[in-house]
Amino acid sequence: MRTGRRGRTGGAAAAAEKLFTLRAQFIAGATDAGAFPQTDLPEVALAGRSNCGKSSLVNALAGRKALARVSKTPGRTRQINFFRIGDELILADLPGYGYAKAAGSIAREWQRLIGTYLATRGTLRRVLLLVDARRGIMDNDREAMVLLDRAAISFCAVMTKTDKLKPPERVETLRQIRAELAHHPAAHPDAMAVSVLTGDGLDGLKSHIAALARR
Ligand code: GDP
Repeated sequence: MRTGRRGRTGGAAAAAEKLFTLRAQFIAGATDAGAFPQTDLPEVALAGRSNCGKSSLVNALAGRKALARVSKTPGRTRQINFFRIGDELILADLPGYGYAKAAGSIAREWQRLIGTYLATRGTLRRVLLLVDARRGIMDNDREAMVLLDRAAISFCAVMTKTDKLKPPERVETLRQIRAELAHHPAAHPDAMAVSVLTGDGLDGLKSHIAALARR
């Protein structure tokens, strides 16, 4: 559902609209803490399994078709990519873990890089944990949630590709995701749902992110 500009959430929607019309720019790719950009801007990170729709979402948020293509460049898929939105916010695109079809453990390498990132990034306001609607939460997502719990980093689950499900399946998958979140102290109890194909949920997600950005 799209949020009306003049509705109860009109202020938040207007702030979000303004934020995401600002220039979005790739500023750094980092495979170790030494390469994390020094900035005092608030930061929101996106995490999820490979193929969960993370690059598509970064592009949709920024209104740019190929902004996140950089994260698909061979050799760069294991790095954290940082994007600056105007002078307001940093979006950090964390490397995807595992694969949508595999339920294996998250690689040690990922755990190390992300563990360091979570432990040292003082400006990090929230992690958006993307969950492919067709897969639901898998074991490697649970591992990521445990890492976030241990680091005490507040996170929010975002169900992606909702256009792939019929409305009743969408409701049921969201219910299952929310039930899972109840086991994780760092989780926001609610989950969002988006589709970059239809635009569903994007305004709500933008408002959520804008509320975390500097005023
Ligand atoms: P990443 O590996 O997490 O960065 O995932 P991508 O953004 O590359 O998306 C993986 C695949 O899912 C691509 O084929 C996208 O076109 C597709 N995809 C991403 N978001 C959506 C969505 O909202 N709806 C549908 N139907 N497909 C999507």
